[in-house]
Amino acid sequence: MPDLPSKSKYVVIGGGVHGLSTAYHLALELGSGEDIVVLEKSHIGAGASGIACGVVRNFYFSPPMAEVIRVSVELFETDPEGFGYHPVGYIAAVPEVQAEDCVAIQKRQAEIGYRSDVVLGEQACTEHMRAIFPDWNGAGIEAVLHERQGGWAETMKTVENLARLARSQGVRIFEGVEVTGIDLHDGLVHSVETNEGPIETELLIAGAGPWSGHVWRMLGLPPEVKVARKDRPTSPIGAAPRIEGDGNGAAYETKPIVTYWKLQEGDYWLDDVELTTTNGEAPVVHLDHVVPLVSDRDGRVIDEGPWGIYYKIGKRGYGVQGGGVPIKLGPEFELEPYGHGNPDHVVGDEFTDYFTAGLAWAHGRFRGRSGEWHTDPHGGIGAFTPDNYPVVDWALPNAYMVMDSNHGFKMIGMGKLVARDIVGGGESRLDGFRLSRYEQGVTHAASHSPYPWN
Ligand SMILES: Cc1cc2nc3c(=O)[nH]c(=O)nc-3n(C[C@H](O)[C@H](O)[C@H](O)COP(=O)(O)OP(=O)(O)OC[C@H]3O[C@@H](n4cnc5c(N)ncnc54)[C@H](O)[C@@H]3O)c2cc1C
Repeated sequence: MPDLPSKSKYVVIGGGVHGLSTAYHLALELGSGEDIVVLEKSHIGAGASGIACGVVRNFYFSPPMAEVIRVSVELFETDPEGFGYHPVGYIAAVPEVQAEDCVAIQKRQAEIGYRSDVVLGEQACTEHMRAIFPDWNGAGIEAVLHERQGGWAETMKTVENLARLARSQGVRIFEGVEVTGIDLHDGLVHSVETNEGPIETELLIAGAGPWSGHVWRMLGLPPEVKVARKDRPTSPIGAAPRIEGDGNGAAYETKPIVTYWKLQEGDYWLDDVELTTTNGEAPVVHLDHVVPLVSDRDGRVIDEGPWGIYYKIGKRGYGVQGGGVPIKLGPEFELEPYGHGNPDHVVGDEFTDYFTAGLAWAHGRFRGRSGEWHTDPHGGIGAFTPDNYPVVDWALPNAYMVMDSNHGFKMIGMGKLVARDIVGGGESRLDGFRLSRYEQGVTHAASHSPYPWN
């Protein structure tokens, strides 16, 4: 590759949202991107960022997440057209068991200036939803959190816009360059090996998404980390760590740094019915419930509950795109070839049944239409951390990892905080994402959601 340097002060692995956003913001912090190269083994957006559903929401129970999302939404709002951002809002409609979570989330959103409303009680929730979707069912939905910010974004537009911003600051992005190994000297990264030759570097940053576990191994780090046991005293984020152990491991267990999950998603459409509202483009809807989920095809109980779906306008501009609760795969999974072309990465017909059953539960317009759906099932593989929250930290003194635990198409602002952390040090908004939290027993608040990522 003609222009590939043999040396670069900063090397970023990954042309997804995190690699590109970090490279861009690092260039802003440094005043120039001339010392930064991004290496992408395939093409930008070839990983999870390119196939994500594109939902942008702040429906998170853990306070550090809310702050990162706020920064990210601000970035989307600077250039909605460039990012392909549709600020249509996001609605979480949930049963009684999650009502208090919604109240707490809305309170925190208000504190950080993120606009949202919470509605409580089945009747009020139904009225709220029917003002938008007149055919909303709503039985047993006891809380609605309506985020007035957020919505969804066209994923490749977002990726391309981040690449454009990075290049505008002088960052060089090399596609088709794969990091195949990392040369370590005295516990420090000395150079990266690539299919196009070695590149010496002072600082390596990895935004490798589902491949984060591979980079972790290339850094010579153990595949499992020590995690304070849940049945021992732990402390929530913000409190001083307190782990009581006998020093011989009894207070800890080991967990894989990465566990793979299959995200279940797809595009579905009918010839004559759309996800229209009384007023404007449909907001993203996230629906969780505890009642049994009944197939709209044959009345069979698909899931005794809890279950959940999320949906928005289809990626073709019509129909419905969305997903459901993901499936845990384990600490090993073949990622290649990555994406919708790999039958092991995409969902099957059973997910169509699940998703359209959820839609039929929610909206009268979709009920009894099961035989008529056109389907484009997809989904993809995500790499999750031991507590399903991002790890954003130094893995070695000159190797920085952004492992977003599959939270992060929407987290395009994370790179801003990472760049500040790298250049200035001690970015407190990342405190909740440090690796040391595992051993220290510092926990993220857990919600009652059926998903691993709330
Ligand atoms: C099906 C699906 C739906 C999702 N939906 C949403 C959603 O609606 N909203 C949301 O916020 N998040 C969503 N996510 C999560 C989100 O997509 C990811 O968290 C985020 O895109 C990860 O970004 P990244 O930059 O870390 O990784 P990626 O986008 O995967 O980028 C990593 C890049 O690194 C490259 N790479 C890997 N190894 C090497 C190497 N050795 N050398 C060079 N390059 C390398 C890859 O080719 C890839 O392009 C979804 C994820 C999936 C899988």
